[in-house]
Amino acid sequence: MSDDEGVEEYLFKIVIIGDSAVGKSNLLSRYARNEFNAHSKATIGVEFQTQSVEIDGKEIKAQIWDTAGQERFRAVTSAYYRGAFGALLVYDISRRATFDNVARWLDELNSHSDTTVARMLVGNKCDLENVREVTLEEGKSLAEAEGLFFLETSALDSTNVRTAFEMVIREIYNNVSRKVL
Ligand code: GDP
Repeated sequence: MSDDEGVEEYLFKIVIIGDSAVGKSNLLSRYARNEFNAHSKATIGVEFQTQSVEIDGKEIKAQIWDTAGQERFRAVTSAYYRGAFGALLVYDISRRATFDNVARWLDELNSHSDTTVARMLVGNKCDLENVREVTLEEGKSLAEAEGLFFLETSALDSTNVRTAFEMVIREIYNNVSRKVL
């Protein structure tokens, strides 16, 4: 794989968390492979995808982890969070219960990581406007209160998917380069 062009400079682990069926796997497959699966069934076991982004002329590799169904059994392990530099906490704008559970996910994230982890709240399925149960303002104000970045996304129609991942990657890069440089 390697050639003489240079070496990878950064590799960041990012985790995706949130209730079952909010669209975590589809956000990742949309971002990494530009694919969407209307009938995806969660398989058990953690999976990740590696995605390269260029920032300031440097190659950043993001290793993005998907719970792949562990959360259905409340069994997201501490190994899943270990070493993460960033997290996307996803809810489904068409299911209020998934938004109500954000606080629980935040507690879990906080108990496994320090405050330097770049965090983004993601309201997915914004294509489902006609069955929306959580307003844009509710998402925004929760994110503000908790100090999270915030975007609504749609893995189905691609709205904001790349932007969400790349905001987190850029924030991690900024955090790391502030410390290193
Ligand atoms: P996960 O359990 O959080 O990984 O969720 P999945 O990615 O498996 O998605 C659960 C279901 O929601 C699947 O039927 C997807 O097709 C659907 N889904 C995921 N993202 C979106 C989206 O942005 N819009 C709509 N309408 N459906 C979505």
